[in-house]
Amino acid sequence: MKVFKFGGASVNSIERIQNLASILKEFPGEKIMAVISAMGKTTNALEKVVEAFYNGNRDLAFQLLQQIKHQHAGVAKELLSINYISCEAKLIELFAKAESLINEKAVRSFDHYYDQIVCIGELLSTSIISAYLQEAGIPNHWVDVREFFLTDNNFRDANIDWNTSQSRVKENIVPLFQNSDIVLTQGFIGATKEKESTTLGREGSDYTAAVFANMLDAEQVFIWKDVEAVMNADPKQFPDARPISELNYNEVIEMAYYGAQVIHPKTIKPLQNKNIPLHVKCFLKPELPGTFIHNRSLNTLPAIIVLKEKQLMLQFSTKDFSFIGEHNLIMLYRIFEQLKIRPNLTQNAAISFTAVLDDRPDKIESLVNEASVFFDVQAMKGLSLLTIRHYNDKLFEKLTEGKNILLHQQTPVTVQVLMSEG
Ligand code: ASP
Ligand code: MG
Repeated sequence: MKVFKFGGASVNSIERIQNLASILKEFPGEKIMAVISAMGKTTNALEKVVEAFYNGNRDLAFQLLQQIKHQHAGVAKELLSINYISCEAKLIELFAKAESLINEKAVRSFDHYYDQIVCIGELLSTSIISAYLQEAGIPNHWVDVREFFLTDNNFRDANIDWNTSQSRVKENIVPLFQNSDIVLTQGFIGATKEKESTTLGREGSDYTAAVFANMLDAEQVFIWKDVEAVMNADPKQFPDARPISELNYNEVIEMAYYGAQVIHPKTIKPLQNKNIPLHVKCFLKPELPGTFIHNRSLNTLPAIIVLKEKQLMLQFSTKDFSFIGEHNLIMLYRIFEQLKIRPNLTQNAAISFTAVLDDRPDKIESLVNEASVFFDVQAMKGLSLLTIRHYNDKLFEKLTEGKNILLHQQTPVTVQVLMSEG
């Protein structure tokens, strides 16, 4: 059995959905668990609906939802013939749930409504794609992943109840493969025991694929992306970025930790635990080798570059000249935890603590307000954080040339510098 994950970009047009069908046709007779995201930027569009609704702007919420409805209906109409009517009924039902929510007054948390509304993105895309594949001669069994992935009610970042989900998958999904080569489902979503929908964190479909792979003892996971392979830098920032043919779990988890937008950071653990290799492949050019990720050690790796822009440096100094110790750090990290902030780099000095963070004004304002009770806080904006793994001096010099270095941390494998324009 293989697990395939198709992200939003791989299903964002009629042609790309047709392309997905041709990829599946390349694997005749194979058992495939296909995990699919919402089409294109649907999740962002649904987020806007939730925001409008929660801000009391019901008309706007409806209007935005109608746009999403039209767009999906258009895709379904274009792709389907005999299955159109039944698929349309399914789409209408999904939208009706969202519409009735929007009609009510908001009495629960933003995150709760977020999950109830945003979850329809993957339900819509998979309903259309499943119906289309049937018509294209690719029989498949559509399932609602919310019936299998039990989560807690930590809306927007829900945690999977592993034991219950595992037994549901074993009991109910495994038998489906006796009659069907392909079982098709949604990434990113789950449900609580009260059957309220939950989401697993943005870009969480990779993680869903990895969880299924673990639970189904898959031989391999394929993540189909719009890039040639995992690259050693973001090609938008570094035009001479190169594909990496082979990586291991350890390297990928480090890359994701430092901010490389490769694979959702939670994806690796379920795979590592069962030693399941992951193949990142290009859905536009499936003949390319992509990147093969495994559990073995690697002798040579290219330099891997991650450049995070729009960084903010905050320096927290004690007000009474007392040392920064456990007590102060615990207070600060409590605030970070509450606000779901994860510093990208930290450094301690005698009476101050420095944290480098993504500059997200909504969170930073609360952070500064809360921390100012105990500390003097100084901020510096507009910085960039460069991380190079497997660095060499020449590359380091090239990438930092003409910049002011504000902070520099280094291990034999990784160097990180916080820079401002020189
Ligand atoms: N559709 C969700 C998102 O855009 C999940 C995913 O694509 O992995 O974040
Ligand atoms: Mg996506």
